[in-house]
Amino acid sequence: MRTQVGIIGAGPAGLLLARLLHTAGIDSVVLESRDRAYVETRQRAGILEQGTADALRAAGAGERMDREGLRHDGIELRFARRRHRVDFPTLTGGRSVTVYAQTEVCKDLIALQRREGGPLLFGAEALAVEDAATDRPRVRYRHRGRERVLECAYVAGCDGFHGVSRAAVPPTVARTYERSYPYAWLGVLAAVPPSHDELVYARHDRGFALLSLRSPTVSRLYLQVPAGTDPAAWSDAEIWDELERRLETDDAWQLARGPLTAKSVTPLRSFVHEPLRHGRLLLAGDAAHIVPPTGAKGLNLAVGDAVALARALIAAERGDPAPLAAYSADRLRRVWQAERFSNAMTALLHRPPDATPFDDRLQLAQLDRVATCRAARADLAEAYTGEPFTGGDGDSAVP
Ligand SMILES: Cc1cc2nc3c(=O)[nH]c(=O)nc-3n(C[C@H](O)[C@H](O)[C@H](O)COP(=O)(O)OP(=O)(O)OC[C@H]3O[C@@H](n4cnc5c(N)ncnc54)[C@H](O)[C@@H]3O)c2cc1C
Repeated sequence: MRTQVGIIGAGPAGLLLARLLHTAGIDSVVLESRDRAYVETRQRAGILEQGTADALRAAGAGERMDREGLRHDGIELRFARRRHRVDFPTLTGGRSVTVYAQTEVCKDLIALQRREGGPLLFGAEALAVEDAATDRPRVRYRHRGRERVLECAYVAGCDGFHGVSRAAVPPTVARTYERSYPYAWLGVLAAVPPSHDELVYARHDRGFALLSLRSPTVSRLYLQVPAGTDPAAWSDAEIWDELERRLETDDAWQLARGPLTAKSVTPLRSFVHEPLRHGRLLLAGDAAHIVPPTGAKGLNLAVGDAVALARALIAAERGDPAPLAAYSADRLRRVWQAERFSNAMTALLHRPPDATPFDDRLQLAQLDRVATCRAARADLAEAYTGEPFTGGDGDSAVP
């Protein structure tokens, strides 16, 4: 099989890239190792920056998001049993975020691709990217029990952190930067309306807790737990008790309990692979970078990469190689800003196992600074809601 752009991975990055290329008249084939049901139900992100929501709209994938997504104008920081609201629009000149689950973003993009786009093969596992530094890169993959080859003009590695694309960048060229954290997130889905109408980020002596949501009837809640925790080690009642302890306040606020429908543990990791381009192989999304989820940046970075990459590939097809040449450096600037913010939010809210009383006092002083200083709150609000997606020349990045 032959195509212009071979896309490995049908997560948000690969699906949006395929959609944007299709609307510009460029052929692609998407290879996805898992089946459709798995991709559409895998619980992950849920907070869309304004730039992400705008990009989905511009790609024709915003109709259900605009109907069912929830606009959020702030978050609550909770510490020392007190509540402090960070109001996004007043601090950022009008920006907000949208709560709309990654599962729904993927469903919308898959439906569009199936209706109007090129081939999207589920159960097609990429085995290797070959000849990436030549004009004729290839993807070797396995589909329906047979090994096959996809010949491409370009390969987009959108296959997430555990994919194979990154390995095609020779070790003499690649550099990686990594940090792992001594704690993880125990995340649950609960069939109960959220107990607060905005996300609550809580710092507590027993560890971090997050109250989030997927819809007006489904809560998403997280607890900081030691790295390597087995989710089965926590009973439902223990999870609710611990959430209650870490989220409790001095006022009449109460946590509503309900049946838990999913339970999993996510390790926290920061990771960047440089560069994002090797010859005709381009990396996008989690294939090239991971952030701890505290800053809600992973999905948004993946969408930003896809928009910038689509724009660069379209320009290259039209005879302008400059945006493709700038892709890696331009996106890495954004990636490192997201790494910085995600790391800072993580340090602000989690309690390391070896925290000393001095560390605790410093952390509370830092939180107090955010709660009482407008400039500190504005800095957080600007980073959380995200910069608009623009190219290096300031144009709209949506092709
Ligand atoms: C619990 C959790 C909570 C999160 N919360 C947030 C949040 O609130 N906000 C936020 O912005 N981000 C969040 N994230 C991060 C976000 O989900 C990811 O950054 C996002 O999924 C990245 O999209 P992607 O398309 O790059 O990669 P992925 O979504 O990982 O997609 C990669 C795809 O490639 C496929 N694949 C892998 N290997 C191969 C292969 N060899 N051949 C073919 N296909 C392959 C995979 O099956 C997958 O479908 C969260 C993540 C987790 C785990």
